[in-house]
Amino acid sequence: MIERISWFFERVWETVFASFHSWASFQEALERIPLVFVNFTNGLAWPYLLSSLVLAWLLYLVALRQGGTTATSFREYAFPAHIYRHPSTLLDLRFMAVDLVLNFLMWIPVFSGVGLLTAKILSAVVIQRMGWEPPGSMTPATIAVATMGFLLLSDLINYWAHVWLHRNPVLWSFHQVHHSAEVLTPAAAFRVHPVENLITVVLQAPVVGLSALLFQNVLGRDRQFMMIFGVSIFGFVYGLLGTHLRHSHIWMSYGPWLNRLVMSPAHHQLHHSIDPRHWNKNFGVKFTLWDALFGTLYAPGKPEVLRVGIPGGESQEFATVSKLYGTPFVSAVRGVTRLLERRV
Ligand SMILES: [Zn+2]
Ligand SMILES: [Zn+2]
Repeated sequence: MIERISWFFERVWETVFASFHSWASFQEALERIPLVFVNFTNGLAWPYLLSSLVLAWLLYLVALRQGGTTATSFREYAFPAHIYRHPSTLLDLRFMAVDLVLNFLMWIPVFSGVGLLTAKILSAVVIQRMGWEPPGSMTPATIAVATMGFLLLSDLINYWAHVWLHRNPVLWSFHQVHHSAEVLTPAAAFRVHPVENLITVVLQAPVVGLSALLFQNVLGRDRQFMMIFGVSIFGFVYGLLGTHLRHSHIWMSYGPWLNRLVMSPAHHQLHHSIDPRHWNKNFGVKFTLWDALFGTLYAPGKPEVLRVGIPGGESQEFATVSKLYGTPFVSAVRGVTRLLERRV
């Protein structure tokens, strides 16, 4: 048993530091960073950035017509100095730059390792032990239904993971990093602690592994029409619906009908609000279904002026890049103590 555990930790250690094995592997990892702008599975890919900018411009035109803005130019409307020069935004940009490099050097190999390991375990259990045969082909309707099913399941996991990140004091220590942004700009979306990312990857791994198993024989053939450049049509279209406005001061609601199905940027802005009316609301990522079902939905109506941050929180605890990485571990220890006290 001890041998197995030490074997596991050796592999983890190897994976985390794989990019540091040689100068070539280090350079190769860094050279992949600019690909985030063309890789459609990444939120920074150009279609998502461009569509958010176009939507912001359309919202500016509407605001101008309705007298809803005092901005004298689109630049002033979309990128106001009091938000984009705010210390919180400058910190977001610094954190984003550091975390992007760390992602490619360390986190991505770990996250793919977790995915690969889960897929292997699932394949050993489901195919070898239970004798299940993945289908050789599927009708387009079956593929569409299965893809939608996996998308809903993955969204449900995201919903519960997010609820859990808020309710468990130890997990909240890590999720606080995201909520510590005092103004919202697209850079704030990347203010996420690696431990939170790891939790999400681990929880999502079985769904990703199961979908890989189901589609393994049809992938590359039947599923192609459901995919655009390596990302599902649903994910791609959702990414075009103003994904970067979710973390911004620009209020964008999809309207009463579409809001009932899909989370709009305004839903997520409300999630960041420190107004008690908005606390613990809108945990969902893509669909409003889960918030509606579990009673945590706050549907956006008329535009609301929001103050964002941690309710009653101490922003100084998250004022530097190293504090964003380090503070959660200190408060996690406090969280464990609180959890133990609850049990006594
Ligand atoms: Zn949250
Ligand atoms: Zn957020």
